[in-house]
Amino acid sequence: MEIPSAYRQLFVDDTDFYNRILLGSLLPQSLWAPLPRFFQTWLRNYIGGVLLYFISGFLWCFYIYYWKRNVYVPKDAIPSRKAMLLQIAVAMKAMPWYSALPTLSEYMTESGWTRCYPRLNNVGFLVYLAYLAIYLVFVEFGIYWMHRELHDIKPLYKYLHATHHIYNKQNTLSPFAGLAFHPLDGILQAVPHSIGLFIIPTHFTTHLVLLFLEAVWTANIHDCIHGNLWSVMGAGYHTIHHTTYRHNYGHFTIWMDWMFGTLRDPLKDEDVHSIFLVVHHMEMLELRQGLGIVVAFRCFYLFSPNLRFTMVIPFF
Ligand SMILES: [Zn+2]
Ligand SMILES: [Zn+2]
Repeated sequence: MEIPSAYRQLFVDDTDFYNRILLGSLLPQSLWAPLPRFFQTWLRNYIGGVLLYFISGFLWCFYIYYWKRNVYVPKDAIPSRKAMLLQIAVAMKAMPWYSALPTLSEYMTESGWTRCYPRLNNVGFLVYLAYLAIYLVFVEFGIYWMHRELHDIKPLYKYLHATHHIYNKQNTLSPFAGLAFHPLDGILQAVPHSIGLFIIPTHFTTHLVLLFLEAVWTANIHDCIHGNLWSVMGAGYHTIHHTTYRHNYGHFTIWMDWMFGTLRDPLKDEDVHSIFLVVHHMEMLELRQGLGIVVAFRCFYLFSPNLRFTMVIPFF
């Protein structure tokens, strides 16, 4: 599809407007206006990404760990401040690199290389919705397989994806783990968003919004709270991914996992849920013994899915 040159000017007008809104309201003009266009865009993506990460992370943590203390997450399963700071450090190290991806997509779109269009009325609302649905299915499929290969191809797991999987217990996962990836891992998992632009006619601003919504969504799926909303890949599913490493690779929905046979439902999966919490509580038990005294017996703590009762089965 040939991109009309008028489209390209509209993309540039739009992205100039976004730069003026974000950079213009946060930084003195003399600091960002002289930068080449590519770096202005990068800076806007970087600042936007950092703001979204901290605002969504802090609000979500405030809500589930403080305001609704003990409602969603048991008090002793709240991740430590140190664990959250480590996740923030990993995410902040990667953020400059993550920001390069939307910057590149924007450059390619403004150059007329993608199949993006700038205005809804270029295609009409119904066609917009149809293209959006196809784009979302493509992204879901792409992220599923990218994530799965990051596990299946051993060097990719060892050198990239393992950084994210050190958070493998409930009390180490927090909304801040959502962007705590090796930079290349984070980019690879977001790359279907950009590849889709070359295949599916996509409204460019919708693409940008979806990409940034990822930051909010990924905070949400790392909070360990099972929303139990059918078809949505909530934190209950993603927590299982962090403990079994072989299930629930999907992103927004459980569709791809269901189709490709890797779905594991948190409510039908009491064992995993329990083992997950057992590990945590055994650690607590050992901590309580103090000064390295070896724990002579172990306990199985079985939790109901809603965490309302606990059953303790000692064994030797
Ligand atoms: Zn993974
Ligand atoms: Zn994760």
